[in-house]
Amino acid sequence: MTSKRTRDRLVARLREAGIRSEAVLEQIRNVPRHLFVDEALESRAYEDTALPIGLGQTISQPYVVAKMTEALLDGFRGGSVLEIGTGCGYQTAVLAPLVTKVYTVERIRELLRKTQQRLRGLDIYNVQFRLGDGWEGWRKYGPYDGIIVAAAASEVPEKLLQQLAPGGRLVIPVGPPGRQELTVVTRKDDHYAQQPLEPVKFVPLIRGD
Ligand code: SAH
Repeated sequence: MTSKRTRDRLVARLREAGIRSEAVLEQIRNVPRHLFVDEALESRAYEDTALPIGLGQTISQPYVVAKMTEALLDGFRGGSVLEIGTGCGYQTAVLAPLVTKVYTVERIRELLRKTQQRLRGLDIYNVQFRLGDGWEGWRKYGPYDGIIVAAAASEVPEKLLQQLAPGGRLVIPVGPPGRQELTVVTRKDDHYAQQPLEPVKFVPLIRGD
């Protein structure tokens, strides 16, 4: 159930669904998604669906992770990425080998602790973790060449726009439950261009710690 054939099938499915980046597809093939879910759900780890991971949170659907990573890295020149909503770290694990450094922010301490251990176990070392509120970003290490948000915001957070480097891209689901759009914001000096990609379904980006 975690075999090469099962993973190949997932990659084929994402290709059919329109994912074009070979680098991203390779990562989907490589990352052992069964290690990010509870044992009871392991047999479903390579289905293209979101799954519960406890504490009211979910592991994102592989297609959505691939789509967001592809959108983030399209024309990517730089090195550092800010990720909001670490969760179980699946998105982090897909992204980390494709960039120089990932700074990731999560508001649930228990999740963050487990995820730190899990990524270390997978020999992923270019990730720095922070317990905090994603609406604030992480100013200390900015500006970032890319920002990726794994929870839906009512509007694009102002602080994240400020922490995006010129030429950088922010990929974020925006909108109320039932009407969320995956959105790409591109910064050109002090001008921001916003482009909707497709409808998505995420847990909300909660305000405050
Ligand atoms: N990236 C994960 C999915 C994360 S689900 C994956 O690859 O599967 C969304 C995560 O965002 C949850 O863990 C939730 O706790 C977190 N979150 C929600 N609001 C937040 C906020 N304001 N700041 C930081 N993290 C937040």
